[in-house]
Amino acid sequence: MKFSQYLRQAMGKALQQVDPSSLRVRLTVGVAAVSAVGLGGVAFWTSWKMQQILVATHKQTVEYIADRFPTDVEIYSDMMSLESGVPRAIANLTNVNTLLWVRHPDGRVGARSLRLSAGAEATPLLSLPQKPFPPQVQLLNGRYWVLCATPLQVEGENLGMLYVAQDITNDQVMFFSLVRTLGFASLLAIAGMTIAIAIYIQRSLQPLQRMSQLTENISAEDLGEARIHLDNPPSEVRELVQTFDKMLVRLFEAWEQQRQFVSNVSHELRTPLTIVSGYLQSTLRRGDNLREPQREALEIAASEAERTIHLLKDLLDLARADSGHRHFQLEPVVLNDLVEEVASMARQYSDRVINVASTIPTLSSVSQIITAKADAHRLKQVLLNLIDNAVKYSHPDHPVTLNLKEQGEWAMIQVCDQGTGIPLPQQTRIFERFYRVDETRARSTGGTGLGLSIVKTLVEGMGGTVSVRSQLGEGSTFTVTLPNAESK
Ligand code: ADP
Repeated sequence: MKFSQYLRQAMGKALQQVDPSSLRVRLTVGVAAVSAVGLGGVAFWTSWKMQQILVATHKQTVEYIADRFPTDVEIYSDMMSLESGVPRAIANLTNVNTLLWVRHPDGRVGARSLRLSAGAEATPLLSLPQKPFPPQVQLLNGRYWVLCATPLQVEGENLGMLYVAQDITNDQVMFFSLVRTLGFASLLAIAGMTIAIAIYIQRSLQPLQRMSQLTENISAEDLGEARIHLDNPPSEVRELVQTFDKMLVRLFEAWEQQRQFVSNVSHELRTPLTIVSGYLQSTLRRGDNLREPQREALEIAASEAERTIHLLKDLLDLARADSGHRHFQLEPVVLNDLVEEVASMARQYSDRVINVASTIPTLSSVSQIITAKADAHRLKQVLLNLIDNAVKYSHPDHPVTLNLKEQGEWAMIQVCDQGTGIPLPQQTRIFERFYRVDETRARSTGGTGLGLSIVKTLVEGMGGTVSVRSQLGEGSTFTVTLPNAESK
């Protein structure tokens, strides 16, 4: 790739990354514009002033020569005739850049500097109008001249018009190259200043960026301990950090109150509801004399009471998981044993086939012992929840499989089913509280929409993650990843 192409691509990428609404870009553009106007203004004014001085000096010289010429002619005509005095005075005042000539009243050009006898520059100069004009700059045949014309009177006699011309082309060329250098230097200075300003502004805004990174990582669970710490921030940012920290404290208090409220309400409702459910069950058991509509109504009431008790239990679990992450008893747990134990527990409450990959002879990949840093009790709860879902959302003939593997510093347990699967857009949402993919189906399966959020809260509380991979109609695999026991 050519260097110019590479440069264009790099600039294109850099421009794409520029956010015109960011404070950094706005400040940089603002300060750079002000400095460009300031520096550009100074450079322009300096050039203009220099040009003025240069031209004024030449005009003064031309004026001085025109003033002195009659006196010189008078002096020479004392020594010789007036006709010989004029060329003598012209020869005396002529030099490399200064030319003089006289035009008689009848329009003829009389005495002149030697350079004007021939050459391309003679024609435009000698054809200047025969009337007086003050010193002025004119561009003739590509050369710059300072010209003036004055009537020539010597000892009362009118000799015609005296012309004085000074060639200032060399000075002008030098001046233009100076202006170009000045312009180029100003551009370089503006570019350098803009880069320096951009870097300085970027550095000044770094505390704000750091603050945004820190706040991004604060979750509802660690509101209590989350504080923003910046090294030596500017006082404005320090004030902002303090206000932010106070807001975090208020948020934590409100969050705690809400959690406490949910926990208390769930607790208070669970006991009477359990009693109601108990009475309904015993009435149904002993209700031989109940008529069919009465039995049906009681069965609906009992099933709804059961569902609500389940919901309250989930809410309590969630409240405990939310507040209890500080009380997790993390210790090395042999996952091979724990997975076997959970599988046999699950087999007891459902008549589903539950396989553990390590126990299947063909899948001998899990021959080694895998240990993770976890709370055994909560991890069992997590796996039972996932197995419960796998059973709920798959056909009774299809088995549920538990996989165990290790990857670097992480241990993984997978719960796989061959059930209905979850549509891709919903896969990120199923871990939200009360979210259910299909309300009608969830109601028939008795779900509350809290199971997976309890799983997520518990796993994250143990320093792990939970994820899902699912294909509609083919099944789902939930993966719980935990730090292995050796990792720090
Ligand atoms: P629920 O109590 O309704 O099962 P969860 O939080 O456990 O609530 O799950 C949320 C939603 O995710 C469920 O309503 C269900 O639609 C979907 N889901 C969870 N696990 C599976 C699975 N193994 N297969 C298919 N869908 C699932």
